[in-house]
Amino acid sequence: MLKIDNVSLKYGAFTALNRVSLRADQGELIVLLGANGAGKSTLFLAISGVHPIAEGKILYQGEDIAKWKSPRIVKEGLVHCPEGRKLFPGMSVYKNLQLGGYVHKKDKKGVEEQIEEVFELFPILKEKQHQMAGSLSGGQQQMVAIGRALVSRPKVLLLDEPSLGLAPLVVKQMFEVIQRINAQGTTVLLAEQNAYSALKICHRAYVMERGNVILEGDKESLLHNEDIKKAYLGA
Ligand code: ATP
Repeated sequence: MLKIDNVSLKYGAFTALNRVSLRADQGELIVLLGANGAGKSTLFLAISGVHPIAEGKILYQGEDIAKWKSPRIVKEGLVHCPEGRKLFPGMSVYKNLQLGGYVHKKDKKGVEEQIEEVFELFPILKEKQHQMAGSLSGGQQQMVAIGRALVSRPKVLLLDEPSLGLAPLVVKQMFEVIQRINAQGTTVLLAEQNAYSALKICHRAYVMERGNVILEGDKESLLHNEDIKKAYLGA
């Protein structure tokens, strides 16, 4: 479905991604682990066409999309839910969700239906749909951010640190929702600091360090890996 093949990316002279390779097959939930600055967000920005890559291929459904512009990437179903949510705080929840439908704006009815589906997944957002997004709690704002991405109709959803700054109970709900989205057929790439919870719901995971993929494996092998336990699981 998505194959990152030897991708390098530089910010000026600084190499943020160094020949990174990974893949997500259809229906998989893939986790990216790595400390701050490892390059997870940069990889997502590269995949979604925000930062041009220096070398390598980004293969999506068999096509190299490395030179595609972001709107085309989103329209084809590769959707990025960025770190820090990036909502419009002074606009209503509904308007924020509607923005996710921008690339499908000719299909107004379809966008409205997608928003209704988001309300089924996050009933609290239906209640708060007329409130300013900025007035919501952190967890609810994260729901809006994920909801907006879902309105774009992702086949592959790139989720960057959705649990960041949320209370433990909310984090738990967030991971349950991510698992549900994946179970309904969306391939998910999840970058997380919350390693244990993320590994628990994933099929496979990759570990990044300073722009390199240093380890990959399935859920069980990583949950029982001694280096992972020490570095990420607080063992
Ligand atoms: P975090 O969880 O903190 O976002 P990350 O793994 O997502 O960590 P990136 O944000 O991708 O890491 O950053 C990778 C490296 O690239 C870091 O050293 C960061 O300082 C650097 N970097 C990120 N964005 C830029 C930029 N626009 N210009 C220059 N350097 C950048």
